[in-house]
Amino acid sequence: MSAVNNLFVLYTGGTIGMLQTPEGLVPAGGFEARMREHLARHEVPAPRFVFQEMLPLLDSANMSQREWLAMREQIVAAVDQGGHDGVLLLHGTDTLAYSAAALSFLLLGLGVPVVLTGAMLPAGADGSDAWPNLCGALAALEAGIEPGVHLFFNGELMHGARVSKLRSDAFDAFTVLPRRREGERAAELPSALAYRQPRQPVNLAVLPLFPGVQASHVRALLASGVRGLLLECYGSGTGPSGDADLLAALREAHAGGVVLAAISQCPQGHVEFGVYAAGSQLRDAGLVSAGGMTREAALGKLFTLLGAGLDQAEAQRWLALDLCGEMAER
Ligand code: ASP
Repeated sequence: MSAVNNLFVLYTGGTIGMLQTPEGLVPAGGFEARMREHLARHEVPAPRFVFQEMLPLLDSANMSQREWLAMREQIVAAVDQGGHDGVLLLHGTDTLAYSAAALSFLLLGLGVPVVLTGAMLPAGADGSDAWPNLCGALAALEAGIEPGVHLFFNGELMHGARVSKLRSDAFDAFTVLPRRREGERAAELPSALAYRQPRQPVNLAVLPLFPGVQASHVRALLASGVRGLLLECYGSGTGPSGDADLLAALREAHAGGVVLAAISQCPQGHVEFGVYAAGSQLRDAGLVSAGGMTREAALGKLFTLLGAGLDQAEAQRWLALDLCGEMAER
């Protein structure tokens, strides 16, 4: 862990650099000049950096797998070809936790720290958190951070694959919830998951279980051609096990090669199918436990595994193992 002194800053949009319009806040270019001016005026110590905009600049509500792959590609090029020893990614907060999680898995093995940050108020607004977040992230990079993906927000450095956005109206918007994370650490990573390997978009879906969920809902999702379905189960991994038609739909999906991953929809929960018969029956229908992973982490991991071309059995195997701390407490 050494101090970063040749930083790559990738600006993707988000509130941090947004400007007001009659329709509301919109992403705006020109943030590099504002950032350099702020750092110089306040004599903020910062590593030397190269600044790049990812075009088009986005409200992160518009991020998709395509942007995850584009961010990954630009980061890999900056490190491997550009020789940068650290990355700062400026991003909107709405899907920041999803991007942080996806990049945690897409960049497995990258030997430099990647820090994401953003802001709840634009840099130009009175009392904005933009400059404290940005300067705090720069200070952390300058001091030296472990390789891997992190989020710096509201004075805290958090693990990129454990974080969730819990508030839409306060500076302490992000938290690492205490979900029980105790996955066995993968002894080594398959070469298909190394950060330089090519990835493809994958058709994935997330479905929270709710009283009244029907087999026809699940079948409609499956008919869309999903290759991975993340089910947000109740409590410790239960669901409507008395619905034979629903269980049959899940079994058929699994037999057809779909990866069925399960997380708990309790903010501080984790999956342990065997606690209730209503959970065991879901496991027997083909669901694989994603332990105490958040939705963001489980989705990013499914994307990385299936996008790397792993088959169902391989994807299920790696899903259950801790790859970068997403299933570990610390
Ligand atoms: N909608 C904005 C975005 O995600 C919110 C933010 O940045 O805080 O880009």
